[in-house]
Amino acid sequence: MDPLSPDQILDLDRRHVWHPFTQEQTAPPPLVAVGGDGSGVIAADGRRYVDLVSSWWVNLHGHAHPAIAGAVAEQAARLEQVIFADFTHAPAARYAARLAAELPGDLDRVFYSDDGSTAVEVALKMALQYFSNLGQPGRTRLLAFEGAYHGDTVGAMSVGRSSGYFRAWAGMLFPVDLLPYPATWIGDETVEAREAQALDALERALAADVAAVIVEPLVQGASGMRMCREGFLRAVAERVKAAGALLIFDEVMTGFGRTGSLFACRRIGVTPDMVCLSKGITGGFLPMAATVVREPIHAAFLGQEIGKAFLHGHSYTANPLGCAAALASLDLLLAEDCQARIAAIEALHRERLMAVRGRRHRIMGTIAAVDLGEDGIGSAIGAELKAWFRRHGMLMRPMGPVAYFLPPYCIAPAELHRAWDLLERFAAEHKGEAGDTGFVP
Ligand SMILES: *Cc1c(COP(=O)(O)O)cnc(C)c1O
Repeated sequence: MDPLSPDQILDLDRRHVWHPFTQEQTAPPPLVAVGGDGSGVIAADGRRYVDLVSSWWVNLHGHAHPAIAGAVAEQAARLEQVIFADFTHAPAARYAARLAAELPGDLDRVFYSDDGSTAVEVALKMALQYFSNLGQPGRTRLLAFEGAYHGDTVGAMSVGRSSGYFRAWAGMLFPVDLLPYPATWIGDETVEAREAQALDALERALAADVAAVIVEPLVQGASGMRMCREGFLRAVAERVKAAGALLIFDEVMTGFGRTGSLFACRRIGVTPDMVCLSKGITGGFLPMAATVVREPIHAAFLGQEIGKAFLHGHSYTANPLGCAAALASLDLLLAEDCQARIAAIEALHRERLMAVRGRRHRIMGTIAAVDLGEDGIGSAIGAELKAWFRRHGMLMRPMGPVAYFLPPYCIAPAELHRAWDLLERFAAEHKGEAGDTGFVP
């Protein structure tokens, strides 16, 4: 136990800590976490909160998982960090090889960085330099989808500009062409027409100088778990390849089993040119990211001049502790019992989702979502829902009127049933009226 009391921790926090994505003047004080316990987090008041959002979508196997904790401790005692120019080490080399083996086609080359945003920045910078190295420096346009979110650094904000979070920084974002996104749900009868429109827009946009198209495959996370169909992404991939542009899959959220397959690209049956990975990569233990590219892209950076190389890196690139956690997490993920639990979560979602009163019910693998109010308005209902779950010992973060579950794979079926019971009751007692407030992931 920490010698500081919970009140002392809160007092220091209130005076010195600045929390992300939080209006600190109106938000209730944070919970003081003192321990992890599988699918739950233990708070200082002794209560256990079931983590229905996998702590911002990073946790896969539960908190404080002993296999990952052990791998990190062992690695820390051997080698904690080393500069990754001039050096390599076993965890980084081994993990890169294992990722390459699990990703389709010739997605064989791994560039390590620190978080989802940097994985995206790396992909965008590589795409532009790739064409510059090939003698096509005019290919600089980037295409992204409406509603996409790709992170909070300037390049990532630019391709995610329509997510609605970045108004204060509009002036620093570079131009990106936005494509319509044909979000769909169970019983949606309009999706085909909207997909056709989106593909028309894509074809027109691809006519000139496009370097890359970036997409969150199958699920746009931060804009409210907006899902699209596999066939649409296959059609996108065909057109992007035909135009000679690069296709970037931002699998920062969808990677590592979230969509029911190890990666969304595997589920869709498409080999993109680049895949951005982070969040679940270490099982939720340490910040790490990877941008995995097809080998011919890497080859275009080889030559005699330093200027042809990718002159980009981060202090902690390929941190050995992160790589050790990632290796241990991948072992757990590939084990049969984990695959079975992922399938069981999806089946349980299917059994319960339609009984929740709301609109646009949707499921993709371990992610289930439903809109409890009108969209576009933002909603007080989300804040109420969050408070209601918290009172019942469950952590959930609705995005405006969108209620969703994205649990760690180790969640017990009884816990997940209890979450669905709570949501069903809440939705039945509310009429879905809209209110105020923001839309925060
Ligand atoms: C969270 C997220 C990011 C940004 O990742 P950070 O680790 O928060 O920088 C990028 N892309 C997608 C799809 C995400 O969900």
